[in-house]
Amino acid sequence: MSPMGFQPEEPLPCPAFTNRTPESTLKDEEWKHRSPYTMQTEAELGPIKWRGKCLCGKVTYALKREKPLNAKYCHCRGCQVAHGAPLQWAVIFHKNDMSFINGSSGLVFYSSTHQSQEYGLPTKVYCENCRTPIMDEGRNVCLIFPQLMELEGSSDEQRQKREPLKPTYVSAMVHCVGFTDSSCSCHIFYETRTTDIPDGLPKWRGMENASDRLDDQGNQIDSPSR
Ligand SMILES: [Zn+2]
Ligand SMILES: [Zn+2]
Repeated sequence: MSPMGFQPEEPLPCPAFTNRTPESTLKDEEWKHRSPYTMQTEAELGPIKWRGKCLCGKVTYALKREKPLNAKYCHCRGCQVAHGAPLQWAVIFHKNDMSFINGSSGLVFYSSTHQSQEYGLPTKVYCENCRTPIMDEGRNVCLIFPQLMELEGSSDEQRQKREPLKPTYVSAMVHCVGFTDSSCSCHIFYETRTTDIPDGLPKWRGMENASDRLDDQGNQIDSPSR
């Protein structure tokens, strides 16, 4: 029952509430041996560009790529409720670019799609101890929340360092757990925003390229440019 890659003196990392029934097989837990959960040394992962940490510090991760595949602000009700926040800011990295320092240990999951705490994609990932939202995991990518990234310097310097993580016009389409490779997105589900964000970035009523384009005040733009 002890898969390779973990310290023998440690019990098998056991996220609470996952599908560890007596019938569990190693195949059921194969995901623990894939990125971003497989244990890797920093040398194995490669030069580290970002580090993230939950509120209590028990969950830490490293990223080896500076620029995310995409970044977006999602104003959908699901993100608002799940985060207790006016919107969700997420950056998308390929799973192979990410590594949890303690593997799957100390993580818990919730899949709103499956309405289950068992591990199954897509899923939301939290710290088992402090319940900080760590990321939303899809099939190939992780949607990570930049607020967890550890930065040094003054507030201004930290803001500056976060610039590569902000949504830009060159991006791909993402919402929560979905992912396609066309078009660009900055604000999605802007119709349910809690406040206007007059940043001039593209805004969509709902899903990108599948809903109306809105302006900063939420008025429909008659002839979508995309
Ligand atoms: Zn924590
Ligand atoms: Zn959302």
